[in-house]
Amino acid sequence: MNNELINIVSNTFSNAFGYQASHLLQAPGRVNLIGEHTDYNDGFVLPCAINFAAVVAASPRDDNLVRVISVDYNNAEDEFLIGANIEPSNQTWANYIRGVVKHLHLRGLEFSGADIVVSGNVPQGAGLSSSAALEVVIGMTFKSLYDLPLTSQEIALNAQQAENQFVGCNCGIMDQLISAQAEKDHALLIDCRSLHTTPVIIPNNWRILIVNSNKQRGLVDSEYNTRRLQCEQAAEFFGVKALRDVDIHEFNLRQAELNPVTAKRAKHIITENQRTLDAAEALKSSNMPVLQKLMAESHASMRDDFEITVTEIDVLVDIMKTEMGELGGVRMTGGGFGGCVVSILPANLVDRVVNAIDAQYTQQSQLTASVFICTAEQGAQVLSLSVR
Ligand code: ADP
Ligand code: MG
Repeated sequence: MNNELINIVSNTFSNAFGYQASHLLQAPGRVNLIGEHTDYNDGFVLPCAINFAAVVAASPRDDNLVRVISVDYNNAEDEFLIGANIEPSNQTWANYIRGVVKHLHLRGLEFSGADIVVSGNVPQGAGLSSSAALEVVIGMTFKSLYDLPLTSQEIALNAQQAENQFVGCNCGIMDQLISAQAEKDHALLIDCRSLHTTPVIIPNNWRILIVNSNKQRGLVDSEYNTRRLQCEQAAEFFGVKALRDVDIHEFNLRQAELNPVTAKRAKHIITENQRTLDAAEALKSSNMPVLQKLMAESHASMRDDFEITVTEIDVLVDIMKTEMGELGGVRMTGGGFGGCVVSILPANLVDRVVNAIDAQYTQQSQLTASVFICTAEQGAQVLSLSVR
């Protein structure tokens, strides 16, 4: 429970609005354990929600006004009226909220305004999806204030629409779906074509270590668009809707006909899809040697075939891999070109790995890493008012 955040949003709410909030809610950030760039190829991903979240204190209003205070942006305020003509604001943070409310309205749902205070501790812009946490907690807020008939999948889809169409960021469905649907102590295998989800338990003596390389992510948008295009070209070559429909045997038979770069990109996606399914099995049966190998292969594939890693990330992964050997898995997570590394490892190895990072990473990269020791948490939820 994020008691500190709960206190901050509750107190800010009563100070600013002059009465106590009726509702408290939270939605988590996430980390993807394996399955990189597979989402837009209609493939599989295996994320889990983490113990970092966006938290809201809110109350319904009788009129159509929405008033929002953002604790993390110096208590900046936003105000708008509910309707189809909600326009973007010049405060970026406010657009995630405006977008979600606008798209809920466009779904034909009926609700009136709200007073809202939001704060979060998901590091912003680090690839742990603070944006999805914010969108999902706002969707949950309106669902609970007005008892809206929305499933968690619809909250996620609505959040994705807001991010795609209102904020203007072309993300897949993974981030919002895991933030809305995660189960405590489980990762979630998501089929990005059908949106079917399967919870996979994480053994209770294993930990998830997220290490931010603090390498500024550059070239992200242009490289992302190039990869998407290459994947589409490869799918077209194989005559399928998406690379999810090509297996490795078919790929091997015909890859020589493809341009070599496109072939490498397709190989990553096709092998990564299979690794993600295999990793879910390995996790389910607590088979660390297999999981570790799959994560190592995933990293090598991102480095050599998809070519989305950078030196600092490879250095960090190598330091952690050398320290853990077969005892724990590690790979880059997220879109690439910087960002975070994720590791799954036995709890009793955490200190050793963190010490190895402290001792070697700065020396080899001139950067300082930030380490987050995480547990797998439940998705978006209404919190009891009694926790205040
Ligand atoms: P990521 O999702 O990887 O953290 P994004 O760039 O997609 O990075 O989203 C970060 C943006 O989301 C921030 O710049 C801010 O506008 C908004 N945001 C995220 N969390 C909060 C928060 N707690 N309060 C206000 N805005 C937030
Ligand atoms: Mg984001």
